[in-house]
Amino acid sequence: MSLTLWVDGNRWRAHLRAVAEAQPRLVPVVKGNGYGFGLGRLARKAAWLGCDTLAVGTYSELPEVASRFPGDLLVLTPWRPFGPALEVPSQLHRRVVHTVSRLQDVRDLQEHQRGARFVLELVTSMLRHGLSARELRGAAAVLDSGSMRRGLAGVALHLPLASGSHLAEVHRLVDEVVAAGLAEGRRTTVWVSHLTDDELARLRTTHADFDIRPRVGTQLWLGDRSALEVTATVLDVHPVERGDLFGYRGRSAPKSGHIVVVSGGTAHGIGLEAPTGDSSIRARAATLARGGLDAVGFVRSPFTIDGKQRLFAEPPHMQASMLFLPSGAHVPAVGDEVGVRVRFTATTFDRVVLT
Ligand SMILES: *Cc1c(COP(=O)(O)O)cnc(C)c1O
Repeated sequence: MSLTLWVDGNRWRAHLRAVAEAQPRLVPVVKGNGYGFGLGRLARKAAWLGCDTLAVGTYSELPEVASRFPGDLLVLTPWRPFGPALEVPSQLHRRVVHTVSRLQDVRDLQEHQRGARFVLELVTSMLRHGLSARELRGAAAVLDSGSMRRGLAGVALHLPLASGSHLAEVHRLVDEVVAAGLAEGRRTTVWVSHLTDDELARLRTTHADFDIRPRVGTQLWLGDRSALEVTATVLDVHPVERGDLFGYRGRSAPKSGHIVVVSGGTAHGIGLEAPTGDSSIRARAATLARGGLDAVGFVRSPFTIDGKQRLFAEPPHMQASMLFLPSGAHVPAVGDEVGVRVRFTATTFDRVVLT
């Protein structure tokens, strides 16, 4: 009776191991819905992989992972002098590594938590968070004036996903770190995201005196889709004739077939998909001419029945969806499982089953 994520345990674990072996100094990222698996489960897997540091998205996520992962906890959302950043339980102070992305936060963080460990985030072409080259030099001066260098755990770069190499940008940013005097007398850690194995290898060659640490989420947890399957349960099946009324809005069936009610709705993150196929005017006209269901306003659902992605009979409900199955298709039985295509990072599963 649920939206279920089935995980082929052996395959999934083999993939996790392979990524960890290909990427030395890996920092697994767990955040949000835990990429569909849940934060706690991924924290335990990161411990199982033997990683010494785990990255979380926000301060609010710390409690859920802290008891399941024994190492350091890097918080990716930059520290600010307000909100949950100020409420880190004192027993976690030694394990948490903050991200500092504004000059004024360098000193404020130390005032709130003396001896706090932190990374300085540099702004990249993403333009999300981070210090400019000039602010980086300012930060170096602040650190020196307040003897705060000890807490510095390196610099962080968050790179775009867009294709093309980002190595030139990384080189430029690392040069800025050197120019700001932040790499002197110590092995400096550079925390990076979204570099390929090949780019990481090249970076380690050209910058052998730096400790390069890749933060990886999607490629690690979701990198082998063949290990993952998502299904919904058929909850009810109703035969309908053309003109029969159904649903919240008293809509009428456009032709004979079945209304199939499946588990999975808006509370799980099941949303309306784009109308089927090509949306050009010519394609729409062709669909109209054929009398296609999308022409009468039916929208494609992510549920697959009898080998085809089916149309929503009406917009998804909170925990169930009503689909229209035209006559001719094989009709599933109540209790059958049907496939669902989801975005893992936006889906809340009722069950995650490791087999
Ligand atoms: C989410 C995130 C990552 C991991 O991103 P994936 O695309 O899931 O690998 C790395 N670094 C930062 C700063 C992030 O916010």
